[in-house]
Amino acid sequence: MTRPPPRDASRDLYRRPKSRPAAPPQSTAKPTPADPDTAAKVVTSLANPVVKELRALHLKKERAESGLFLAEGLKLVTDALEESWPIRTLVHASRVKDQPLVKRAVATARARGALVLEVSDEVLTKICRRDNPQMVVAAFEQRLRRLADLTTPTGVWVALEGIKDPGNLGTVVRTVDSVGASGVILLGDVTDPFALEAVRATMGSLFHVPLIAATLDEFAAWKRARGIPVWGTHLRGAVDYRSVDWPETCVLMMGNEQSGLSDAHVEACDGIVKIPMAGKADSLNLAVATAVMLYEIRRARLTV
Ligand code: SAM
Repeated sequence: MTRPPPRDASRDLYRRPKSRPAAPPQSTAKPTPADPDTAAKVVTSLANPVVKELRALHLKKERAESGLFLAEGLKLVTDALEESWPIRTLVHASRVKDQPLVKRAVATARARGALVLEVSDEVLTKICRRDNPQMVVAAFEQRLRRLADLTTPTGVWVALEGIKDPGNLGTVVRTVDSVGASGVILLGDVTDPFALEAVRATMGSLFHVPLIAATLDEFAAWKRARGIPVWGTHLRGAVDYRSVDWPETCVLMMGNEQSGLSDAHVEACDGIVKIPMAGKADSLNLAVATAVMLYEIRRARLTV
């Protein structure tokens, strides 16, 4: 197995190289049991360069340059490892080092060439930028796919026009996962799906749901080439969403939080539906509207 260069306290290791080297092969195996003889690298200094680099991943610019993002908490980190997301660094508090699940995550991270650091609570607080931080944090490589890779789309895809709220995005990804839909297509200028707030809101679904980034032009060309039906949602839609005979494969297009679905995006749709609003509220929250739509579209296929 080709192993990556040792990842130590060098700032450059967290930068996205000009031409990125091939990612080290990632095992598809479940996390392996820990090797009790392997000693951890213990860090207590807040000035440690790796600590600074991890902390910097809270910033969009740093995430964009490095191609990395932070996942906080043992559940999220374990989910990512089980889905073979490429891991660069795993950090855990000294006081949880003997927990079996932490040992397993550490062993898996090491086997995949990641740097593993055991740190003080103070260091974790610094990395996580908050009191009462999670006891396990890891830096993973971002994974965004392209529409061109989606040659034979099946199932229900959610396309989001210019989504701005990371909490909404995370909730949509979690809902897509929950209904067994296929993935999310991010159209245009959107909030960073790898921002901590978005990652947190996915509750781990980020690691199971494919994310695709595209422009509206790319999307329109892809839709034409694949012949996939696209249904938009709009407050002024002419059709009640409950009256549609939803196909097994389609795209559900949702509008931006403030301005809704723009005319250009409406143009890319084959039909526009509305969700009836009985009270005085003028619209539903974007993530709530997406959930209402997805459960209706997938209703006949949700047999579990
Ligand atoms: N002021 C915006 C407008 O005029 O469209 C409201 C946008 S709404 C908060 C965000 C998105 O959720 C909309 O673009 C649409 O995709 C969806 N949405 C919310 N309520 C809806 C409803 N009652 N019917 C259809 N779509 C709805």
